[in-house]
Amino acid sequence: MWRRLLTASIINLPRNGSEKFTHHQFGKVSLNVDRGGRLDQLLHSLKSEFPHLTFQFKADHWWWKVLHWLVVIFSFGKNKRFLSGFTTTIGMTIAWSAGHTRRIKNGIEEDRVWACLMHEREHLRQFKRYGVFIMFLLYCFVFFPIGLAYFRARFERAGYLQTLRAWWVLDRNWAENPESIKWIVSQFIGPNYVWCWPFKRTVQGWFVQELSRLQQQEQAA
Ligand SMILES: [Zn+2]
Repeated sequence: MWRRLLTASIINLPRNGSEKFTHHQFGKVSLNVDRGGRLDQLLHSLKSEFPHLTFQFKADHWWWKVLHWLVVIFSFGKNKRFLSGFTTTIGMTIAWSAGHTRRIKNGIEEDRVWACLMHEREHLRQFKRYGVFIMFLLYCFVFFPIGLAYFRARFERAGYLQTLRAWWVLDRNWAENPESIKWIVSQFIGPNYVWCWPFKRTVQGWFVQELSRLQQQEQAA
């Protein structure tokens, strides 16, 4: 549903590699990004904060397919979009969903890639702080793998707050649309992250509060 809510105004045109662009490597794919634009700036800052950062495309590696089936099993068949709709960070590797793979390979919708990276940067920071093994334990098992996963909710809360902030910048209508908050809340209380936090009002509160903070900040400016 959220795809419907995204406006076409943020779609970028493919580019030809003129001096206005900076060349960035996404795994095997190179992309010319608007020089000094938000994606260019974010990629530079990610490279300096995480020197070992690498990118993969989920479709290129069997291990992402294995994880896909694990997600299908643990979500009782309700999340079948791990490969197509979800970009995943493990350690210092960001693995792109089919949707973002298409954007990166075609050099389109740069801003959507940027918004996704804003979210994934939170996970990179979490992996940097806890290491892969502790992150794995916390993310998957504490308190419970299904239904009450405190750390998964906490880690994703940080990610989705960035998602909301990113879309506040890119598309105010999307950020302020109650359907968008509803979509974010559904990530927590539904199968996409294996029912990580069931308290709908609490989750709603995190994002409604953040939205009003953004609105107040703008009014004060
Ligand atoms: Zn996330």
